[in-house]
Parts: sequence; C-alpha cells; structure tokens
Amino acid sequence: MTPQALQRLIPSLKARTLAWWQALENALPGGRGRRSLWSALIALVMAVLVTLVWLAGRYEASQLQAELERDTANAVSDLRTQLSRHVQAIQGLQSSHPSEAFWNLEAQALLRDNRDMLRIEWRDPSLNLNQSADSPLRSPVFERVRRTETLSDTQQACLQAKRSSGPSYSRSYFLPQTDGLGMEVMDMCLPNTQGGLLVGFTVLTYGLQEIINARLGVGYGRRNEVSFTEPDGTRLAIAGSQTRGLRIFTAQQLVDLPGNTLVLRLDGRRGEPDLFPNVLTALVTAMSIALVTVMVLLAKDSRRRLKAENDLAEALAFRKAMEDSLVTGLRARDLEGRITYVNPAFCQMVGLAAEQLTGQLAPMPYWPPEMVDEYKQRHAVRLAGNAPPREGFESVFMRADGTRFEVLIIEAPLISVQGQQTGWMGAVIDISEQRRIEELSRASQERLQATARLATVGEMASLLSHELNQPLAAIASYANGSLNLLKDPAALPQTLDDVHMALRRIAEQAGRAGKVINSVHDFVRRRDQAREAVAPEALLDAIAPLVNLQARKLQVKVHTRFESKLPPVLCDRTMVEQVLLNLARNGMQAMDQPSNMARVLVLQVRRAASNAEHGWVEFSVSDVGVGIADDVERQLFTPFFTTKAEGMGLGLSLCRTVVEQHGGHLSFEPLVPRGTVFRFTLPAVLLDKIAA
Ligand code: ADP
Repeated sequence: MTPQALQRLIPSLKARTLAWWQALENALPGGRGRRSLWSALIALVMAVLVTLVWLAGRYEASQLQAELERDTANAVSDLRTQLSRHVQAIQGLQSSHPSEAFWNLEAQALLRDNRDMLRIEWRDPSLNLNQSADSPLRSPVFERVRRTETLSDTQQACLQAKRSSGPSYSRSYFLPQTDGLGMEVMDMCLPNTQGGLLVGFTVLTYGLQEIINARLGVGYGRRNEVSFTEPDGTRLAIAGSQTRGLRIFTAQQLVDLPGNTLVLRLDGRRGEPDLFPNVLTALVTAMSIALVTVMVLLAKDSRRRLKAENDLAEALAFRKAMEDSLVTGLRARDLEGRITYVNPAFCQMVGLAAEQLTGQLAPMPYWPPEMVDEYKQRHAVRLAGNAPPREGFESVFMRADGTRFEVLIIEAPLISVQGQQTGWMGAVIDISEQRRIEELSRASQERLQATARLATVGEMASLLSHELNQPLAAIASYANGSLNLLKDPAALPQTLDDVHMALRRIAEQAGRAGKVINSVHDFVRRRDQAREAVAPEALLDAIAPLVNLQARKLQVKVHTRFESKLPPVLCDRTMVEQVLLNLARNGMQAMDQPSNMARVLVLQVRRAASNAEHGWVEFSVSDVGVGIADDVERQLFTPFFTTKAEGMGLGLSLCRTVVEQHGGHLSFEPLVPRGTVFRFTLPAVLLDKIAA
C-alpha cells in the first residue's frame, strides 16, 4: 500500500471507528443512565450526611436537656435539705426560749443568717401573736399590708401543722410593699408541743425570690434562669439572667412540701443552634467533608478512567481496522517458531483461516511439500538467533488449493515492552503479480527490440539491393566476357589467362556479395544475450559494413577514432551494436539535406572523462546534420516519436533502455556550428581484474 493510499484511508477509518463507538455507547446502559446513577449516589450521600449532622445536633440537645433535668433534680433536693434544716433550726428555737428576750435574740440571729427568712412569729395555740422578729437585712414586709389581713393562709397551714404535728407550708401569696412593688411569700407553720401539749406555733415567712437567690441562685443561677411557677406557668419568683440568641432548654420539677407544692423551673441557656455544636458534630462534619472529597475524587478518577477506556477502545478499533485493511500479510511467531498471530491479509493470501494457522509449528501448512527441507533449514537458522537480511528474502508459498506463489518476506525480531525478544514478526508481500508483470514487460521489450531490428533490416534490404548491384553487375560482365572469350575457337592461350582472371574476379565479387548478405544475416540472427568482454574496436568493426552501406548511399564519410589501449567493455554485444548502428544511421539521415558542409560522421571511443565514471568507456557518434529542434528534443526518447516518413520512432528509446540496462548513461548535445553528438557509456573490464 502506498503512503498516499494509507493517508487517504486513515480519516475514513477514523470516522468509521468513531461512529461504531458512538453506536456502542448508545446501546449500552451508559451515558445518561450512568449520569443519573451518579446523581442518585450524590443525593443519597448528601442526605445521609445531613441526617448525621442533624442527629448529632439532636443528640447533643438531648444531652443538654438531660443535664438540665439533673440540675433541676439536684436543685430540688438542695432546696428540700435547706428547708428541713430551717425546720430543725426553728425547732431549736422553740425548745430553748425561756424568755421572750432570748427568743428575740435567737430569732434575729436566724434571720441574719438566712436571707430567705423574712419574719419569724411566735404565736400561741390560738394563733395570737406573742412575739415577732423581722429580718434585719431588709425593711419589714408587713408594713403596707397588715399581718392580720394575710393570716388566712397561715391559719390553714397551722391547722394542718397541728394535725400532722409537723411543719406545714401555706400557699404562696402576693405581698405588696411600701416601695410600690411586691413579693411572693410563703409561710411555714411549725407547732410547738411540750410534753404532748400544744403550747404555740412558730410561723416563718419565706420570700420565694429570696429562697431562689439565697439557696439556688449561686449554684444554678449562673447558667440557668431559676424560677418558681404556678402549675399554670405563671412565674412567682425568678433569678438568674438570660442571654438572648441562645437556645433555651427547660426543665421543671415539683417541690412537694407538706401543705404546698411549688414548681421549680430551670431554663438553661446553651449555645446549641451553632452548625458545629460540639466535637461529635464537628467530627461527623469533617468526615462528611472527607467523604464528599473522596467522592469527588472518585468521580474525577472514574471520568478519567472512562476517557482512557474510550481512547483505548478507539485506538484498538483503529488498529484493528488498519490491520484488516492492510494488503501486507503479517505473521508473528514465538521463539519456538509457533505461529502466534496472523492478520486477515495473510489468511487471504494462503487461503487458510486464522484458527488453522495460529499455534502451528513447522512444517507450516503453506509450505510447498518439495520445499519443506529447505524451509526447515532456514527455520532452524532463524531459531538459532540469526537475523534475516533487512531488505527481506524471496520465497514460495502454497495456497490451500495447492497453487504456488512467490512472496517477499521481511522479518524482524519481535521485542516486548520489557525489551526482550519474544519471537519474530514477519511482513509477507505477495509478489507473484509483480513478477508476472515484470516477465510480460521483459517479453514485450524483447519483442520490440526484435521488431526494431527487423525494421532496420527492412531498411537494409533496399540498401542491400543497391549494394549487391555492383558485384552482381561485375559478376555478370565478367561472366559475359569470359563466355565471349570461350566462344572464339581461335582464341589465344593468353585468352585463357583472361578467363582465369575473370573467374577469380567473379569469385571475389561473389564473396563480397556474400559478406554483405552475411553481415545483415548475422545482425538479425544473433540472439545470445550473455554479457561478455568485447573490445570496443570489435563492436565498431561489426557494424562497419552496414554503416558503410548507408554511408555510400548518402555520400557520407565515416571516420572512426580510438584512444590507445582501450580496455574491453562488458556488454551484450548484439544490443550495443544495434545502439551504435541506430545512432550512426540517425546521424547520417540528419545530414541528408543539401548543405555546403562535408558530410562526415565521426564514431569515437575513449575512456570516460569524469572521475565519477572511472572505469567506464565512452562511445560517441557526431554528425554535422540539421541538429535537434526544441520541440523534437522534448519527445526524443518517447517511443514511436519520429519526424521521418518511414521512421518507427523506436530507435532512441531502445538505445536508452539498452544503455541503462548496462548501468550506463545516454546523453546528447548540439555541436557548433552544426550537428549533434550522442554519447553513451559502458562499464570497462579493467585489465587487472581480467588477470585475476
Ligand atoms: P526514427 O529514427 O525511427 O525516427 P529514433 O527514435 O531513432 O526514430 O529518432 C527519433 C527522432 O529523433 C528522429 O525522427 C529525428 O527527428 C530525431 N533525431 C534522432 N537522431 C538525430 C540526429 N542525430 N540529428 C537530428 N535529429 C535526430
């Protein structure tokens, strides 16, 4: 296949492969299907990640809530402990008050130590006030509203306390103050029994706000808002501050006191609504980011892989298409000589399927049986590691139908990627057609040359008749003269001498005529093609009679010049003689025009002048004829080009073929003032070589 044909083939192959690949893509569940799979995966992973982050947030919130619940339970427990301590303190006060003054002192001390106690009263069994003490830490609470107005809740509590013989708490109630504000207070009533007899009550008034401040504020109020509420949620007292913008967690717990139930509520401030609320969420988020990154990388990698796959498939398809359309057979063999690969062209050449060939060892099915021994030897030489000639070697293969055909095999070592020889790769070209064409052209060339020779002979025939006229006429007149002499009976003996002489002349002339005829005969008959060493003089001598024939007719003088000590030339004698004859004849014909110059044809032989042609002999034929016009020059060597009425136009083209077949070169140039010189070279047989 020529490079141009290959270049034309490549784009069409490429287009075909691409179309094929496109069709494959459409047929497979790839393309859009693969894209939607990817989007589904991404959506799923995103959903999982969002859920994870949300769950982590939720988990943290629940942790915070649980913590708050724990705090609330602790607060309630602390509160109860405090309140029961107060009960014990009051009991202590009851048991050690012999005098009112002492009671007052003790009560004052209690009030001073406990900020949440606002007032302590000592009442008799009928709840009449014996003694009271107000907290020294603030203004008395019953100033704006008199104590008697708020006593009903206290009475309830004391009744209950008397019944249970233990502390009892009243409902909380609102107590307006002199400063215009008010406070929520609660009474605790503790009966005082001595020797099983009720001797009075101690009523302790608590400020709910103060309870929170004093008992819970320090421990729980820093991070929470602590409050007492009604069951319906109304706040009775509140402590601790709230920061805006933070999420509030709420926990409530009942403070179950005898006679009253309070609700303690803690509102926790936690910075939960952040995106990264804690380490867990941060960890999950970091892992999510890592996951997404890995996914993106995976997607990129898969896209790269897909592209590489596409490229590879394209390259493979292209290679396959190229292999399939190759006209050169390809054959690979491993180091043992087993066929490992054949391309379709090879299969077609030998008429066997690839399966019948791959895996085969010598003798191969395409070896002609008569050649098996020779091929086996060649095979063994190759397997021994001897590389075949780079330019290839010719061989004969056999088709499945038994017909033989010539092939040119170019074989080279098959080198793997690791750089090791794994076998032999051979390109096999069927050259049988080429050989047939060569044979045809050689035969037609020979026929042409024979034709040209015959044409020359035709030409010679007219010259021959002209040339033979002279000896024949001489023979005739000598014969007539001799007859006349012999007719005369009285002829003198001298006459006999004359007859003798005449007969000798007749023989001479007949010999001359015979030579003329023989020279033509020789020229036509000589067919041996072998190259031989011939002296240049011998070549010119051989054509001299024929050249002279024409020279005489056209009144041309022929000069031959030889350089001294010319080496013989290696040539096909008949062919070169014809070349010389053609050139001489053309030269003489070119001078067949009226001109005032003497018609001279010079045949010259000398050593080739240039160094490059050392070892060559140059023949030249010069005439002083009309010369060669430009338009004639352009077509000079074209077969069948002639300017002559009876010419065939084959002479010069054959001359050039013959000279080039000998490795020489035919050229021409004009002569000044008139004429043309044709030169050609032939290889010399150097004398030292002959000696060797
Ligand atoms: P042919 O002699 O049959 O015409 P050739 O191939 O020998 O064929 O020559 C082709 C033509 O070249 C001739 O017809 C002639 O015109 C021209 N030619 C050849 N040799 C000479 C020459 N020496 N001088 C001038 N013209 C020539």
